[in-house]
Amino acid sequence: MSRTVYVNGSFLPEEDARISVFDRGFLFADGVYEVSTVLEGRLIENEAHLARLQRSMNELEMTSPASAKEIVAIQEELIKRNGLIEGALYLQVTRGAADRDFAFPDKAIPSLVMFTQAKNLINNPAAERGLAVISVEDIRWQRRDIKTVGLLAPTLAKQAAIAAGADEAWLYEDGFVTEGSSNNAHIITKDGTLVTRNLGNEILHGITRRSVLQLAQEADIKVEERPFTLAEAKAAAEAFITSATTFVLPVISLDGTSIGSGKPGPLTQRLRQLYIKQALAS
Ligand code: PMP
Repeated sequence: MSRTVYVNGSFLPEEDARISVFDRGFLFADGVYEVSTVLEGRLIENEAHLARLQRSMNELEMTSPASAKEIVAIQEELIKRNGLIEGALYLQVTRGAADRDFAFPDKAIPSLVMFTQAKNLINNPAAERGLAVISVEDIRWQRRDIKTVGLLAPTLAKQAAIAAGADEAWLYEDGFVTEGSSNNAHIITKDGTLVTRNLGNEILHGITRRSVLQLAQEADIKVEERPFTLAEAKAAAEAFITSATTFVLPVISLDGTSIGSGKPGPLTQRLRQLYIKQALAS
């Protein structure tokens, strides 16, 4: 069945949607994006996603194609038109179409595209099974705090994981884990401390990361925001990833070494339940 997608003011069947070949998102990856989760037909943590979208646009001196209020109205209409109950809403803003030139165009009109993806997020088999992760050198640019559509390096990392028979890649730089290919990376040490990389230009400031750290603190789990090594991760009691569409997912091995018991850890499972409960209540 064909989806309805949104492109620059129009709701269209996906096969009729068009973007210019001169769009700078296509030519230069000159665009930013957000993925918001939908549960029970409602957007989860959407305000935080739109705030990060605005920050990404500001960092790149990009003009927003619509106000936050207008964006929410389009998102909700798209969810309604597609009858989306559970899944993701993808939103992309690019600097727009202009004759190819590295310098910013004077008059390009920013482009706004959205589409939905239906998916079972709560009943995710990976939550029971856990993820096998491999480490891959982080070769991305130095502004990973900006959520740009320049995603070739994480695509290669994820593909390397799949080719190795694993599920996910954790990226490392100077011996320290930065984050996952499309998620934040966390460990729980043997003494029960949640350790996760501190915020900076080296990682995306995950919306789910922030909420899960808050929930951990409320559950009296000690939190340390600092870089950790691959060796520390292998020696951890538990490990997990966070992202909008995966919530909290256990990591059970790193480069073939079992983490903890080699099964999803109890604190990880508790944090997943707490996050889902809070999301459903929001
Ligand atoms: N890091 C990277 C590189 C990502 O692509 C994502 C997913 N957008 C995240 C972290 C998780 O961010 P969020 O919790 O806001 O989805």
